[in-house]
Amino acid sequence: MGLHASCMRYFTGTDDMARQTRDRLLAARRLCLAIDLDETLVHANPVPEPGDAVAEPEQFFAVYWTERHRVALRPQVREFLAELAPMYEMCVSTQAQVDYARCVIAELDPTGELFGDRVCARVLADSPVTYKSLIPDMGGPSVALAVDDRLDAWEAGCTVLTVRPFRAFPNPPLPPTPGPDRALSCVAERLRAVYAEFYRRADLGEDPSVSVVVARLRQRALAGITIAFAGVLEPGEVLLGHRYVQCARELGAECVQDVTLGVTHLVVADGNPQRFPGITAVNLDWLHTAAETWSWPDEADFPPRPMQS
Ligand SMILES: [Mg+2]
Repeated sequence: MGLHASCMRYFTGTDDMARQTRDRLLAARRLCLAIDLDETLVHANPVPEPGDAVAEPEQFFAVYWTERHRVALRPQVREFLAELAPMYEMCVSTQAQVDYARCVIAELDPTGELFGDRVCARVLADSPVTYKSLIPDMGGPSVALAVDDRLDAWEAGCTVLTVRPFRAFPNPPLPPTPGPDRALSCVAERLRAVYAEFYRRADLGEDPSVSVVVARLRQRALAGITIAFAGVLEPGEVLLGHRYVQCARELGAECVQDVTLGVTHLVVADGNPQRFPGITAVNLDWLHTAAETWSWPDEADFPPRPMQS
């Protein structure tokens, strides 16, 4: 894959190309990983005017791109990339402009060992917004997946592991968030599990697909529980299709509209007073954490919260 202009529309790869890439990846016992830049690996902000109150991130560098920007590196970004490189052929897939992407990649991967020329970015700021896709150059959806802070940037059918957005430049400065940002090590753990499961199945003579492997691993997290929601859905809003419901179902949970016999968990919006005897109540972060870790978080760590003032 070359440095591709107007990213998503440029690719005219064929099924043949996807097959060839797939065969090459399998022969090398690797998979393909498309990684977003902004708010996934880095956070960029224009250089502040003198006197602007802006928090200073720990690690940042400057790029010139239309105007001078400061780009903060997400904690553990270099470790994340180095750890995954043996398992995944990595490429950058960004809605950002190609000149900016080049600057950021030069900082993250100065020798070109990690990304090579596998960059998918936009040529012009006013190029039409297109959805990102797992393109034939990546071997197709059976061997490729993506990491992004936004699921809605991707075409339906792509396997995307989401990561909490990384924002290093709160303006005005906010108090530091408690605890270190471990989002990348969380997603690395999931990617290791996907890789191990994919090649475990391949070694058994199966013809595995990343999308199926991810769906199965994800579904183990909350299998066997039944969730109702309190204050999360708008009045009159139906359960079906709601993003939290979709998320819970992907994690293997059943979701129901009303609290009935069999409900094990009540996911409660901040400030909502509803509780039911015998049903564990948790806040929405419990569900977010399950989605980020593909595990069953300890409910005791996520009690319902009063309305934040
Ligand atoms: Mg992003």
